[in-house]
Amino acid sequence: MVSQPHPDQDDLAAQMRRFLGDLRAFEGRYFPGLEAAPEAATSPDAAAQLEAFNQEICTCIRCPLGETRGQFVFGTGNPQAGILFIGEAPGADEDRQGVPFVGAAGQLLTKIIEAMQLVREDVYICNILKCRPPNNRDPKPEEIAACEPYLKRQIELIQPRVICTLGRVAAQALLKTSESMGRLRGQLHQYEGIPVIATYHPAALLRNAQWKRPTWEDMKWLRRQYDGVEL
Ligand code: URA
Repeated sequence: MVSQPHPDQDDLAAQMRRFLGDLRAFEGRYFPGLEAAPEAATSPDAAAQLEAFNQEICTCIRCPLGETRGQFVFGTGNPQAGILFIGEAPGADEDRQGVPFVGAAGQLLTKIIEAMQLVREDVYICNILKCRPPNNRDPKPEEIAACEPYLKRQIELIQPRVICTLGRVAAQALLKTSESMGRLRGQLHQYEGIPVIATYHPAALLRNAQWKRPTWEDMKWLRRQYDGVEL
């Protein structure tokens, strides 16, 4: 079950929805066809391989988070997605449900995806860490290192056309850099030959309304990369 947002977050999420709705109405013509770019029909093989991999690693105790987690949060979405969103780590709601981005930030991410004329099932969503750090503290370098082969394998299996990192921690971990979010945004990065766009974390947008507009610019760019008009 999707958790109820805190009333303040609800307010901000409603504002964000209106904002994105307005932009979509205004800029809807921008997206060619307003529909998902065609993916290869989902190969049962890709889906099966991803699920087999989940089963193989879901009891992981490579780092101490394996002892404290509620559920292992592998990832969700289309195993052959053109867009892969990568967040930081599961929060309390994700830890309870075993699914990434289902709390307040996740609900906002879902709206952002919909504003891009896609649905969650079109894309794939996962995190740098598969287990929740206690009290939502930042991931430790050794936890990121322990989890890294899992994300690498997921990317190999999904083969997305473009990756979008959500927030500083995800961008820095994937791209192995200590550059600030300000410097990471606006550049097309690469991960193993796949273009990477770094944008703000949806949780940050719930706290900082001034980042909504630049995030929307990033999402339009992401959509262009996905559509292959800027490859
Ligand atoms: N924040 C993240 O980075 N990932 C989630 O899955 C939820 C919140």
